[in-house]
Formats: sequence, C-alpha cells, structure tokens
Amino acid sequence: MSTQASTARMEKIVSLCKRRGFIFQSSEIYGGLNGFWDYGPLGAELKRNVKELWWKSMTRLRDDIVGLEATIIMHPKVWQASGHVDTFSDPMSTCRACKKLVRSDQVWDMLETTPWAQAVRETSPEGKPNPEALLKWAKGKGLRAVPNFVFVKDPEAFLARVAAHTGEWDAQGQSLIQILCTADAAGPLSMPCPHCAGELTEPRPFNLMFKTYVGPAATEEDIAYLRPETAQAIFVQFKNVVDSTRVKVPFGICQIGKAFRNEVTPRNFTFRSREFEQMELEFFIKPDDVVQAQTGAVAALAPDAPHGEPQPNWGWELWHKYWVEERFRWYESVGLKRSSLEEYWQKPDELAHYARATVDILYKFPFGTQELEGIAARSNFDLTQHQTHSGKSMEYFDQEANLRYVPHVIEPSAGVDRLILALLCEAFEEEEVTDEKGQTETRTVLRFHPRVAPVKVGIFPLLKNKPDLVQKAIEVRDMLRPLMNVFYDDGGAIGRRYRRQDEAGTPFCLTIDFDTIGENGPEKEGTVTLRHRDSMTQERVRIADLPALLLGKIS
Ligand code: ATP
Repeated sequence: MSTQASTARMEKIVSLCKRRGFIFQSSEIYGGLNGFWDYGPLGAELKRNVKELWWKSMTRLRDDIVGLEATIIMHPKVWQASGHVDTFSDPMSTCRACKKLVRSDQVWDMLETTPWAQAVRETSPEGKPNPEALLKWAKGKGLRAVPNFVFVKDPEAFLARVAAHTGEWDAQGQSLIQILCTADAAGPLSMPCPHCAGELTEPRPFNLMFKTYVGPAATEEDIAYLRPETAQAIFVQFKNVVDSTRVKVPFGICQIGKAFRNEVTPRNFTFRSREFEQMELEFFIKPDDVVQAQTGAVAALAPDAPHGEPQPNWGWELWHKYWVEERFRWYESVGLKRSSLEEYWQKPDELAHYARATVDILYKFPFGTQELEGIAARSNFDLTQHQTHSGKSMEYFDQEANLRYVPHVIEPSAGVDRLILALLCEAFEEEEVTDEKGQTETRTVLRFHPRVAPVKVGIFPLLKNKPDLVQKAIEVRDMLRPLMNVFYDDGGAIGRRYRRQDEAGTPFCLTIDFDTIGENGPEKEGTVTLRHRDSMTQERVRIADLPALLLGKIS
C-alpha cells in the first residue's frame, strides 16, 4: 500500500473510532491531552472481551498459571532494583528552530511520513535523485514549506555531493530524504526536525517514568512512580504467590493492568500512548543446569520442528520457543491473520543486557510493521535484582530436585491498546455493494472475530409500531441478553439498521417479522431471520435454537 493510501486508511479508521464510539481523545472538550485516549461504549466492550480472552487463555484454561492484581504505585525501590530509575530512558533531541522535542531514534520514521518528505519523493521516481526536479522543488515549494531544511538552504551544493557519491548511496539503500540530509557522504547523517526540518540538538536521555508524591509532605523522599510496566509487581510478589498457592516451577504469574510512560512523542493514534494497558506473563522455569542434573540432558532446540507439549527436559530455549508459538496461536484465535503478523528476533546488539533472546511479534499496521508484543528470555535477572535490593531471598525450594535456586523467566509482554488498534485495522473494510434496487453503495464493515466483537447480536423488530412484533423482539432480547452483549434497534429501515451494525462489527443480526409471529402460517412461526455480517446472507432460525447456535459461534 502506498504511503498516501495507508494514511488515508488510517484516517478513516480514526474517524470511524470517534464516530461510532470506539476511541475518543481524552479530555477532548479541553483540547485533548497528547498521548491519552478514552474508550467509548463500543471500545470498552471490545477491550473487555480482549482482556477476558487473554486472562481465560492464561489462567482458566491452564493449570500452571495464576493471576495477580497489584497496585500501580509501588515502593520506589522497586524501580531502582529493576533498573528503571537509572536506565529507563529514551534519547531525546530538541529542534533549534521550532523548539519541539522529538525522540531521536524515531526521527527517520517520522520524517518518511511528513507531507514535505512525500513531496521530495515525488520529485524523484523510484528513489533515484532527479536533480532538476529537486532543485525546482527546493527553490519553490520546499523553500515555502521547510525553509530550515539544510537541503533547501543550499540545494546546489547538496546535489553536487549526491552526484559524486551516487553509487555509495545506492549501495547503502538510503532513502532520498536521508541522502538529502547528509552533509557529507562519509560523515554522519544530520537528522532534521520532522516538524520543520530544522536542526536537532544531540540526543539526551529522558526518563520515561511519571513521578508523583505519596503523602502530604511532597519532599524528595516522598517521590514515587506510576508503574511503567506491570511485570515488576509479579517479581516483587513472587514469594507470596509461591507461599500462598500450590504452584511448582515451571509455573507462571500473569497480570493485566495500566502502565504509564511519559513518551516523548506519542503518535500513530493509540499505538504509542502515555497511559496504556499491558497483559504480561512471567513464566518461571528451572535454570538449565538444574534441568540437566535432573533429566540428564537439556532438550536440544530444533528450530523448525514443532515443540509439542512441555517436557521436564526443556531448558529456556524450548520454553521460549513454546511461548512464542503459543502467543502467535492466541493472536490468530482473536482474529489476526498469520499473514498480518511477523516474527522478529532481536539481534544480539539490540538485546537488553540480561536478555538471552527476545522475539517481537509485529503487526502490519497501515503506518508500518510494528511491535505488538515482546517475548523475552530474561534469565533470573529480575528476581536476583530484587533479592539484592530488598535483602529478601527469592530462592525457590524445588522438592523434586531437592535444592534451592532463583528461577529463570520467560516473559510474554503484550499491550492491550496496540492489540485493539491492530484488531480495528485488521477488521476495517470498505466494499462496494448493490442493494435490492440495484444501487451501489460503499459498505463500511468491521470484520471482527465474533469472539472479540463488542456487540454479538443486533435484534430488530421489523416495524416498531406493531406491538406483536415489538413484544416478540423484546422476548428474544431478554432471552439472549444474559448470555451475550445484544443491541436492540427499532429505528429506520432494516437495511440501515444492518449497516449500522456492520460498522460496529456486530457479526449477527436477528429480524423479528410477520413470519415470526405466525401471520404467514404456522410453519414459520417462532423463527427469525439471522443475517450474517460478512456474507450478508440470511437464514431462518428457530428462536429456541438461538442460544446454542450463537454461543457456539462466539465462544
Ligand atoms: P516500544 O519499543 O514500541 O516503545 P517497548 O519494547 O518499550 O515498546 P515493552 O517495554 O516491551 O515495549 O512493553 C511491552 C508491550 O507494551 C509492547 O509490546 C507494547 O504492546 C506495549 N507498550 C509499550 N509501550 C507502549 C506505549 N507507549 N503505548 C502503548 N503500548 C505500549
């Protein structure tokens, strides 16, 4: 998809989200607050369904994972032990011209989507610099749009250098914008401000944790942080969970909850927010040397072979692979196609110093392929850190092995809001349809998997001024309501009501008509029209069969 088409698609999704009550800007009547989003009636249901499905798959459908719900504000030492106070920062630059702050590691990505970068690209088809067209742009539109852009300031000098180094640029696969930002082919890239193309300062670290004070004194000693991730509470409560339940390593503790990061440049709708929700699992496993001692040999990882069911001889590599595959399977079960997802293995120089391996699950968003979830093999770094900083032992006594150790951990860490956005992007479709009168129109439809769809069934009496129809429709509504989220709608033509539910992503609609109440003979009495959102086909179904039929489709 071209950049323009992706931007247009994203704009449509954002506008649908507001129009239909999925996602609103936080505090919108006061101008909004950058990086904060509210979920409207449909969004709230969608989010609940997603969290419910994750929680169920982790805890209720397994014997080896338990849940936790911890506080957002914890003892500040937690964040010293975890390393967040010292190292949880992003590199940040300020623009010397417009004074805006930007995250230095995101500048190139942001640049590629600016209108002026798009205009530059249009001068030079297939990325091959077209000197004449570039010069014309720099002296005309470029000068008006981005007078601070170093290329615009001295286009002739730049084009001379570009020409001198053509082969090198090509070999490095740099984009046209990068070429035009580079003062010297051998030198470093000089990143321009993505807002005004001005000069940026050197990157400086900026801590992402939100600070607050606990208690009325508000002194330095009272500083506390809003948690930047939910995972640390799991490590901090590890001992309490082990002591209060009957879990045995390997086992997991999971949590869903809010996390806060003072992101420098929140963007791409909800993708990078300052307040968001995470769904995290810490799955504790035996260190490989314990597995080796107990079973004789740690099972070897066969990258292309299916891992099968967990085995006692699994070391961290197999557990890691197991969780990567489990998580892909789960994403498919909530309606993301495998072809919309990508698996990215972090390179050794990208890994956190304690991580042995990290796989990111990426989703192909319209604005780029980006991270939905990270699955990290974190050794026993976190528990050991808390043991050192708290002075409390984090050792686990393994009865089978008859020894004590600090367990290692595999951490699948997902963002709820990014997943909601991915589900919206995956589901959104506009298609041309022809109505019964032969007229074509564009149908906007959200093709959510029935499992996550905010409303499962729309229930419509054919006419709202026929008491018999209304009464029957209300009966059907009251029968289904305790079982699933239904929406009763008696307003407007049936076709319009279907369209409204298509846009909300409702997979099924029921129409109660004259057949239902027996006006056209006894054989159709007690039946309704069941209309399917995706195929738009309709079938006649007995009211008595509805609960089992619908529950089968949404569970
Ligand atoms: P990124 O590199 O995109 O900032 P990250 O690698 O720092 O993300 P993690 O710390 O691994 O993210 O957090 C786990 C998950 O939490 C991410 O995969 C993502 O789904 C979610 N997440 C992290 N930061 C944000 C944010 N600012 N807004 C929304 N979701 C987020």
